[in-house]
Amino acid sequence: MPPTIINYGRTWQFTPKQIACPTNVEELKSIIKNAESLRPVGSKHSWSKGIITHNTLVSLQNMNTIQEFNFETLQIKVGAGITLKELIIQLELKGLALSNLGSIHAQTLAGAICTGTHGTGIGFQCLASQVESFEMVDGNGENHIFTKNNADFYALITGMGCCGIIHTITLNVVKTFQMHAITDTVNLDELIENLEQYVEKYDHFKFWWLPPSKKVIVFKNNRTEQKRNDSNFIRFIKDEVLSVALYRLLVMVGKWNRKKFIPSFNRFLTKMGGKYFERICKSYIGFLTPLPPIHRETEWAFNYAQAKPLLKKYKELMLNDEHTYNFVQEVRFSCADDFWLSPAYKQNTIWLPMYNMDNNNNWEAQRKKFETWAIANNGRPHWGKEADLEYDYLQKQYIKLSEFNAVIKKYDPLNKFANNWNKKFCK
Ligand SMILES: Cc1cc2nc3c(=O)[nH]c(=O)nc-3n(C[C@H](O)[C@H](O)[C@H](O)COP(=O)(O)OP(=O)(O)OC[C@H]3O[C@@H](n4cnc5c(N)ncnc54)[C@H](O)[C@@H]3O)c2cc1C
Repeated sequence: MPPTIINYGRTWQFTPKQIACPTNVEELKSIIKNAESLRPVGSKHSWSKGIITHNTLVSLQNMNTIQEFNFETLQIKVGAGITLKELIIQLELKGLALSNLGSIHAQTLAGAICTGTHGTGIGFQCLASQVESFEMVDGNGENHIFTKNNADFYALITGMGCCGIIHTITLNVVKTFQMHAITDTVNLDELIENLEQYVEKYDHFKFWWLPPSKKVIVFKNNRTEQKRNDSNFIRFIKDEVLSVALYRLLVMVGKWNRKKFIPSFNRFLTKMGGKYFERICKSYIGFLTPLPPIHRETEWAFNYAQAKPLLKKYKELMLNDEHTYNFVQEVRFSCADDFWLSPAYKQNTIWLPMYNMDNNNNWEAQRKKFETWAIANNGRPHWGKEADLEYDYLQKQYIKLSEFNAVIKKYDPLNKFANNWNKKFCK
């Protein structure tokens, strides 16, 4: 009897009829041919229900090795089931690195890429942009190689496994580099007024807001070839002791009386966490944050051209009913891209989130309120996070959605990859 599968966020669970873990392409083809219906699974780090199936769940945990390194072209060929963490380790051993990352590295490469997972930096696209070509077995059990010359590349790479299972990826990588990482605090209103000076001055700028604090913690990260000057001990104290232990303790205490404790705890955490700190560290240390406690997330992509007025409205939204947030609101930026279902499709993007550890009822009401606001402001939902998907609205925001549906019919004519979640945008 296959085990019950629970997502990272502990928001839902299901029991598939079987879990298949192919070790090569032939096995994968045969699994797909023989399955009535199926879904691919990565590290289960999505809040959205893309992996749910009551039939066959396919994990590429055994197709997870780097098969080729090309040091001239700076490309590698890798099994798509590798986790980003393992990939970073393997690359570093060869003096290589991923050019950009999100805030954690627990996801699989395929899982991260196909939901449009992003990091921060107005000059940097989502992680899928690092892909040069990939191989996918479709719903008929046939293998295809997609390069950038093929229009379907742009449909499928952020296609959430709706047409097939991506099993091998050729990635563009870079030589290892360092991050000149500065942490500081700044007044939120001042940041909004001078936004371009932050977002456009640093390669990877983002900020954390702990409402109702008037200040926010800013991360001013620039890529550099300079030597590291960080200390593992200080990093341990800052990242593990301060960020993790102290934060978790305050969260526990705050639960007793959220309205009373959380606002002052958030101001305190902003002050402590945002003390001026500067270091030159390994690139991935600069990108990643310590793995947070279990929480809920919704995150939407908006037009960066509207960032200033949006941030003013966002601030009002998050403060106006004195709701308490015991989690950082991480505001990030990314560059326009060409991937059909990427939330940053053809649009420089500001990502506005609502993250929290709330009780279930409060979360749902607040999430819905946030979503109504996001829709009123032409937001595009992150596919890996929480959102109610409504086809007509999605079609307005993702202008390639009907064409994407035609691509599904081509590669999965029997609808083997359909589930209750993707049926909302796959017609
Ligand atoms: C703590 C935390 C931090 C996060 N930080 C960020 C962040 O910084 N930036 C960001 O953008 N997102 C972030 N996310 C969201 C996360 O990156 C995405 O949800 C990502 O898709 C999860 O990857 P996974 O390997 O767990 O995939 P899963 O959640 O297991 O699957 C995601 C989707 O990919 C499909 N899929 C999986 N494998 C394949 C395959 N081989 N071929 C085709 N389809 C496949 C699945 O069917 C499913 O639809 C975060 C999530 C968590 C829990």
